Amino acid sequence: MRMEKRGLVIIGGGPAGLSAAIYGRRAGLDVLVIEKGLFGGQINITSEIENFPGVEHAEGMELAERFRKHAEVFKPEFRDCRVEGLVVDNGCKILKTDKGDVEAEAIIIASGASFRHTGCRGEEEFAGRGVSYCAVCDGAFFEDEVVAVIGGGNTAVEEASYLTQFASKVYIIHRRDEFRADRAVIERALANPKIVPVWDTVVDEIAGSDMVEKAVTRNVKTGETGELSVAGVFVFVGTEPNVDFLEDKQLERNGKWIVTNDHMETSVEGVFAAGDVRDKFLRQVVTAAADGAIAAMASYEYITAQLYLQNILFEPEKAVAVFSSSIDGKHIALMNEVEKWSDENGAKIVRIDGYRNIRMRQKLGVREMPSIIELAKGNKIRERVIDSLSDVEEFCGE
Ligand code: NAP
Repeated sequence: MRMEKRGLVIIGGGPAGLSAAIYGRRAGLDVLVIEKGLFGGQINITSEIENFPGVEHAEGMELAERFRKHAEVFKPEFRDCRVEGLVVDNGCKILKTDKGDVEAEAIIIASGASFRHTGCRGEEEFAGRGVSYCAVCDGAFFEDEVVAVIGGGNTAVEEASYLTQFASKVYIIHRRDEFRADRAVIERALANPKIVPVWDTVVDEIAGSDMVEKAVTRNVKTGETGELSVAGVFVFVGTEPNVDFLEDKQLERNGKWIVTNDHMETSVEGVFAAGDVRDKFLRQVVTAAADGAIAAMASYEYITAQLYLQNILFEPEKAVAVFSSSIDGKHIALMNEVEKWSDENGAKIVRIDGYRNIRMRQKLGVREMPSIIELAKGNKIRERVIDSLSDVEEFCGE
């Protein structure tokens, strides 16, 4: 069976993926969006959103629906399936899915992150009804109320401080007797009279009627149980990027988070990452959407550059190209000389950044840089490693 070949394939239909789909389609790319669950991603479990510019107030699910409808206007293909693996072979990028393999010209990983859950009784039931995983999104809804934060890391302690702007009291329920957060963060929190740490304690149950009313606690040292009357429970026991389909060492990571540059390029050419799955400072709907836009435009540039190179290198009877690295000062200086010389002498030389176009380098078997090659109808007939402009002049004169 022939492999399905697509232009831009986006993994994930949250704000990053849908924004990438809008930008990708508007740029004229063939776009396939793969989503295994609900389109909209994590905002589906966010009760209300009031910090996305232009949308004063919306329920999470409502905003997710609006994103999806907006993306639909530009007619990408949406596919309900699960990505199970990414294979990059000789520059070819293949996604393994439960509905078959797809080869992509470029891939954007926008698979998001998941909040780790404590797994206590009532946590799932009250998600969006008092149980929250995002203080910035939901904190303002607890004006003058008592809330609890579960966790003892930087997020829990920082977000507890943030919540004191709204809440009258914030319990931090931590399973040990010291936080693992940074000292300055801890000092600031403990100096705040609204913050009450509850040490050596876990939450066994979150309970209420319509909305959360209490947290049932247990001291892990004494076994003593208790109840805290709270209107909200913020769970900050860590988050994890959704990268199960990647192998452990695939793509450069910080922990599990995918490292990108500011063009959303990962360590593998033609594979981009956007949104919460990235190693980044602020994980919000607005930053995910922005990442998606950047990733789509960077993908567009990548795909068109590949097509352009393909045309100018493989179609003509004869083509001469120089491969150099855009991150090496000596290579850059030599390329400037080559450009000036070829302009003055009418020599047609294609200059290729071999650092970014690894796929093309591999395709043409260029192992060292800088080097110059001659192609006849796409077949390499000569190659030489170069050191100076005179090497180029000599090669072109032969
Ligand atoms: P984290 O550092 O992994 O902390 C998770 C906290 O949750 C820990 O205190 C852990 O307890 C507790 N926990 C885990 N599972 C639990 C469970 N089932 N029940 C109850 N408690 C549980 O996660 P994070 O705070 O989200 O931070 C993630 C990373 O981002 C960290 O590297 C953090 O330093 C970083 N971060 C940095 C900043 C900053 O620099 N300003 C801000 C936010 C986050 P134990 O301590 O007992 O393990």
